[in-house]
Amino acid sequence: MGSPRASASGIVTRFAPSPTGLLHLGHAYSALFAFEAARRAGGRFLLRIEDIDAARCREEHHEALLEDLAWLGLEWDHPPRRQSRHLADYAAALDRLEARGVVYPCFCTRREILVEVAGSASAPHGPDGPLYPGKCRALSPSEARERRERGEPFALRLAVEAAQAQAGPLVWRDREAGLQAARPDLFGDVVLARKEVPTSYHLAATLDDHLQGVTLVTRGEDLRPAVHLHRLLQAMLGLETPEYHHHRLLVDPATGRRYAKRDQSLTLRALRQSGVPPMEIRRRVGMG
Ligand code: GLU
Repeated sequence: MGSPRASASGIVTRFAPSPTGLLHLGHAYSALFAFEAARRAGGRFLLRIEDIDAARCREEHHEALLEDLAWLGLEWDHPPRRQSRHLADYAAALDRLEARGVVYPCFCTRREILVEVAGSASAPHGPDGPLYPGKCRALSPSEARERRERGEPFALRLAVEAAQAQAGPLVWRDREAGLQAARPDLFGDVVLARKEVPTSYHLAATLDDHLQGVTLVTRGEDLRPAVHLHRLLQAMLGLETPEYHHHRLLVDPATGRRYAKRDQSLTLRALRQSGVPPMEIRRRVGMG
């Protein structure tokens, strides 16, 4: 891939939807936010399709989102990167992490973990839910190998403390909140891959932002905590660290709630079919 870092202004942004449903007004805002940030700076805007979860993603949603974004007036450089077409890249990144000794196989079922968490009075919680209590971190390498060879299903988890010890203190820059000290420990030993989904959002998004040459990651503020973890993955994999700009989440004035996939009447598709023009969508999301 040619290096987008060489573009005129150096700014490269992206929008990274998952084709698990139709795009709604919240997506339109997020996509326009990234697009306009690049356009204002004379930079470039890219698209990435986050479709690693085969059970939830649909081809029809993938096609619909490309059409809806084009209808909205967005244009992107390069064909979009479809994560499901690049599983070998994520596997290679996992191999690199394993070689550094910062991932381990976890044989616990989701149920076992829930039972363990429920039985503990003070189970710590992170941005993605309860932290993994750590049972399989203590497995000896020979037991872990034997169980893998026997074909027992497992997930690969990040050994966050070991990784942090290797990386040392890390920082990242948020355009609004300024320089942040990374706190990947907030997530505990997250799952980086499972049998049914051979990578995770965290690993795939972090690697792809680097591979796509993204210099400014813009997205909703619900994902701001994720950067703490992404920063550690960048350090472990030797990746570039982009700058971040997390935007507010749009709220439906009628209900006071965030737009969500369940709001079928507010999909771009439904609005378009009812005759709403793209300029009106831009105006409704405050980007007109
Ligand atoms: N696929 C993610 C979502 O739809 C986007 C995450 C990101 O922008 O990093 O929420």
